[in-house]
This record gives sequence, structure tokens and C-alpha cells, in this order.
Amino acid sequence: MNDSYRHKGLRRKLAEEVRSKGIKDERILEAIEKIPRHFFLDSSFVEFAYQDKPFPIGSGQTISQPYTVAFQTELLEVEKGDKVLEIGTGSGYQACILQEMGARVFSIERHHSLYTKTKKLLAQMKYQPRLFYGDGYKGLPAFAPFDKILITAAAPSVPETLLQQLKPGGIMVVPVGKADTQIMKKIRKTGQDDYQEENCGYFRFVPMLGDKAK
Ligand code: SAH
Repeated sequence: MNDSYRHKGLRRKLAEEVRSKGIKDERILEAIEKIPRHFFLDSSFVEFAYQDKPFPIGSGQTISQPYTVAFQTELLEVEKGDKVLEIGTGSGYQACILQEMGARVFSIERHHSLYTKTKKLLAQMKYQPRLFYGDGYKGLPAFAPFDKILITAAAPSVPETLLQQLKPGGIMVVPVGKADTQIMKKIRKTGQDDYQEENCGYFRFVPMLGDKAK
């Protein structure tokens, strides 16, 4: 895996582009500058890695657009040491951004082939989020509660089970809606059963599906 000056230059430009679209958290922009996104795409697509676009990663899934990764991360208000649960590991890029910001990351993927591919890739990098193969709707009760929960697939409604795995004071970021567009929701757990919800614009994600796939 080669990370050249050219790649670094392209990343600096990408971070600038994401900044110009409204992302203010410098730690996120720094993480974008640091993490070689081309490692997360199949090698024939290297030239696409530093465009602000989503991209296919196999099994009918996509690596999210860098701006979307940054936007969700900003809403999550990540603090160093936060225990973060991500649903939809996909390529692993988002998990690495969170880890670069000092979060302790737990991430679930329902596609076995993607889970295996990403585990193998991250083993070769300095990022080691804890990866799980399973159904994200169930969360990780054994590791709950979490400070933050980030869902990177479109949920038809806010998953109740996951809200229960959020600490009081914690934040969940989830795109809610059907196939074409979803509303990005930021939900703050203000008490054991109290929540504050904020709608933060429209996005398009692949659907969150129940149960595991091969
Ligand atoms: N965060 C990813 C992008 C994810 S795309 C990245 O940085 O690359 C959405 C991912 O969610 C896909 O990989 C899809 O397989 C996964 N997914 C969909 N439903 C799921 C579920 N119920 N549990 C876990 N993962 C799920």
C-alpha cells in the first residue's frame, strides 16, 4: 500500500473542499488529511479516492462521500475517549476517522464478505477499531452503554434498541427514511427515557437491512 506525496496533496485539497462546504471541526479536516482514503477503495479506482463522492466497495455497498462522513462526525460531537458504536462498517473509513479523533470505536457490519475484507485491510494499518459481524439493529448489549452511536445506513425509523444502548447525555446520529432520501437526525438522550431531536438536512444512504447476510 503506497501513500505518496501526490496522494497527500490530493487529500489536502479534499479537506479544503469539505471545509468549503461548511465543516468547521478542524479535527475532522485533519483526519481527512491524514487517512489514505485510496486504501479503502479497490486499487483500480485510486484516481476517484480524493473526489468528494461516494464509491462502490463491493456487495452492493458504498463508501460514503467524504462530506457526508464529515457532516455525521461533526453532529456526533466526538470527544477524546468517547465510546462510539458505528452501524455499517462498510469500508472502515468512517471508523478510522473516529479513531483518529481519539474515540474508542466499535463497529458492526452485516455483510460477512465486507466484514472480512475490512478486517484484513485495517490489520495492515495503524487503526484497529473493534469490528463485529452481525445485525446492527441489535447493537452490542455486552459493550453498552455508548457515548455516541452513528448509523451509516438508512434506517426506516429510529432504532429503539440502539437508543437504549446510548448513555444519558449521549448522541445518536441516524439518517431516517426510505430509499430515495433520508432526514439526518441528531438525537440527544437527555434522561433515561427523554430525547431531544433535531433534523439536519437530507441525505441518501444505502438501506439498513435486518439480520446478517453472507
Ligand atoms: N461507514 C461506511 C459506509 C457504510 S455504507 C464507510 O465508512 O465506508 C452502509 C453499510 O451498512 C453497508 O456496508 C451495509 O452492508 C451496512 N449495513 C446495512 N444494514 C446493516 C445492519 N443491519 N447492521 C450492520 N450493518 C448494516
